[in-house]
Amino acid sequence: MGDTLSIKLFQALCAGLTMRPERKVILSDSGNFPSDLYIAQGLVNLKNAGYVLRIVAAEEVADCLRRQSDEIAVVMLTEVDYRSGRLHDMQEITALAHAGGAVTIWDLAHSAGALPISLAATGAEFAVGCTYKYLNGGPGAPAFIYVRPDLTETVEPALSGWLGHAEPFAFETTYRPARSIERMRVGTPAVIQMTALEEALKVWDGVDLAEIRRASIALSTLFIAEVTRRCPQLVLASPAGPAHRGSQVSFAFEQGYAFMQALIDHGVIGDFRAPNLMRFGITPLYLDRHDILQAVETIETIWANKLWQQQRYQTAQKVT
Ligand SMILES: *Cc1c(COP(=O)(O)O)cnc(C)c1O
Repeated sequence: MGDTLSIKLFQALCAGLTMRPERKVILSDSGNFPSDLYIAQGLVNLKNAGYVLRIVAAEEVADCLRRQSDEIAVVMLTEVDYRSGRLHDMQEITALAHAGGAVTIWDLAHSAGALPISLAATGAEFAVGCTYKYLNGGPGAPAFIYVRPDLTETVEPALSGWLGHAEPFAFETTYRPARSIERMRVGTPAVIQMTALEEALKVWDGVDLAEIRRASIALSTLFIAEVTRRCPQLVLASPAGPAHRGSQVSFAFEQGYAFMQALIDHGVIGDFRAPNLMRFGITPLYLDRHDILQAVETIETIWANKLWQQQRYQTAQKVT
């Protein structure tokens, strides 16, 4: 745990590329969160050694792995698409990547706390994620990195900070990585954020994620059915089948930004992702059928009264 997701991803990417020195391609998809793509592009520039970031459509990843398997060093994907909620098949893609000899990094930003994850079963080398989405750690809460246990003593830590040293308090002049996942620690942990996260995680004590998933699917299905029935002009932008979706639901609407501002003003808090998506997080730990139906009611009211057209909802804020 520690740092931010962008930094943990950088560490995983560096380590992954080092594991396949003869290959030069990082494969990702266009639905990935921009920061992940920016970090990969930055690393490609920094290495200045012929690396390329190849970005394909999410549906083309599997085919690409079958066709170009000997060029790809690292497959870097986010399991749940931040805009649409579309879910990748981690098992299938990791197996394809491994069949072609590539290292796999999964970003679980929109998965952790949203659905059960069988990371170890996939055999993926790396995973990263943050704790301020479904895990409620609050902005600035620490990120996490997973390294497959058999690799923790050999992966190369690119950010060789003192707390990843085998003996940080020996204060040696030369870096020697810890012989464990500890080598992925960089510097002093953010103790205040860790403490906030520790408290946030207590609501998960004794919670079965399979049950959360069942409830999430039931609530999302209800939400989609009711919004679609009452406001048919809002277009579902998430996969209709729950097996292909994480725990968020998005609707496309041209005036989506203003519509979401009106919704927030009326107590239903979602967010907006450019160019036209209204995104709703379905969190069964503290939302039930009543909340969902009340949210739909509010959406319908705003729709029927054209409340989003009011002037005060038109000005875009920096954070959407
Ligand atoms: C939220 C999110 C991030 C944000 O990274 P930070 O460094 O924690 O700001 C990165 N990648 C994905 C896929 C995300 O969903």
